[in-house]
Amino acid sequence: MKLFGDYHTHTIYSHGSGTIRENVAAGIKKGLKEIAICDHGPGHYLYGVKKKNLPKMREEIDKLNEEYSDKDIRILLGVEANITGFDGTIDMDEKSIGLTDILLLGYHYGVTPNTLKDGLGLYLVNPITKLIPIGRDKALRMNTDAFIKAINKYPITFITHPGAKVPLDIRGLSRAAKKVGTCLEINAKHGELSVESIRIAMEENVDFYVNSDAHSPNDVGNVNVSIERALAAGLQMQRIRNIIVD
Ligand SMILES: [Zn+2]
Ligand SMILES: [Zn+2]
Repeated sequence: MKLFGDYHTHTIYSHGSGTIRENVAAGIKKGLKEIAICDHGPGHYLYGVKKKNLPKMREEIDKLNEEYSDKDIRILLGVEANITGFDGTIDMDEKSIGLTDILLLGYHYGVTPNTLKDGLGLYLVNPITKLIPIGRDKALRMNTDAFIKAINKYPITFITHPGAKVPLDIRGLSRAAKKVGTCLEINAKHGELSVESIRIAMEENVDFYVNSDAHSPNDVGNVNVSIERALAAGLQMQRIRNIIVD
């Protein structure tokens, strides 16, 4: 069993500590065949990648792919996009998406919403329901619905750490994701998908990715905890897209 690629790594373009080159060098060391540079979407007002940096990152990655053509690694440009509205809008426009090779989607606090209503619902009600149980079911339904709309609107390869920041209906999300060919991530940095969530998602036949979510080059390719959770859930390794089974 071998990790083919790590599709979720951050750099100094958001709040990672390594450069693109440093993450790639770490990936080569780990024997990865692919690595994706996926910094936080531009809608995050603290960590978001600056929209104007995306063409620069594209150029840097194209050059590195040429430079490393003998190293047997392919470098992809991606973004870990954010939900900005209940209609499933994300913080990436068509032009920016056109620059990327892979698009991830996750929920993070600190994102500028489309409207005040989106902001209240997505980014204010959720933390409140953590403290007071009233409205938790409604929040869960609305969060899940926003994700389902987004994966039907945009070419999302996988949803990052589903359920780690806000509650999601993992079964409903998995069913919808399976229909459009989006996968779910077993993230090494966050506890979700948990063993229990993996078990639920498995039943809906959705596929998975294991990723480091590295914020420093040292962590690139470190997915052992994700694999442990997958094994504990009884997931067949063939269902993980970036694992090569011998
Ligand atoms: Zn994330
Ligand atoms: Zn991340």
